[in-house]
Amino acid sequence: MTQAFTVKDYIRTIPDFPRPGILFRDVTTLFGDARGFRMAVDQLLLPWAGTRFDKVAGLEARGFILGGAVAHQLSAGFVPLRKKGKLPGRTIEQAYDLEYGTAVLEAHEDAIRPGEKVLLVDDLLATGGTALAGLRLIERLGGEAVGCAFVVDLPDLGRRRLLEDAGHRVHTLC
Ligand code: 5GP
Repeated sequence: MTQAFTVKDYIRTIPDFPRPGILFRDVTTLFGDARGFRMAVDQLLLPWAGTRFDKVAGLEARGFILGGAVAHQLSAGFVPLRKKGKLPGRTIEQAYDLEYGTAVLEAHEDAIRPGEKVLLVDDLLATGGTALAGLRLIERLGGEAVGCAFVVDLPDLGRRRLLEDAGHRVHTLC
C-alpha cells in the first residue's frame, strides 16, 4: 500500500542555515521528488481554477522553479523578478527591507503590460517583504496583482496579514 504524503512531508528542515539559530525550510527535497513537485504545483493552482492569468511572476530563485511550472499549467507567460543587476534590459526597481539592511528587486520595464492579470509565486513567505516588493513591481508596471501563492507560510511571523491588508489574495500550502 502506498503511504499518503502531504507537501509538508517532502520539505526538509536544516538547522543553523544560513546563520546559527535559523531553521531553514529546504524545498529542494520537494522539488526533487516527482510526486511532491507535482502535488505542490497542482495545489498552488487549485484556488485559481477558472481564473484567467496573463502572467505568472516568480521571485528569484525558487519562485522561478515553481512559477515556471505554474505558468505552463495556466498557459500564461512567465516574468522573472530578480535581484538587482541580473536582468539585461531596461528595468524598474523596488527596494525592500531585510532583517539587516535593504535589498532591491528588479523587473524588465516591458515584462507586464497595463491591465494584465498576474499571479505572484514564491516558495516561502517569511516577513513578506520580498513578496510585497514583487507585488509593488507588478502594480507599478500597470499589472493587476490578482493574488499570490506560496508553498510555505511561516506562521510565527504572521505576515500573511500584511499582504491581505494590502488587498491581495494569499494562498499557502503549509
Ligand atoms: P521574506 O521577504 O518574506 O522575509 O522572505 C522570503 C524570501 O526569503 C523568499 O524569497 C524565500 O525564498 C526566502 N527564504 C527565507 N527563509 C527561507 C527558508 O527557511 N527556506 C526557504 N526555502 N526560503 C527562505
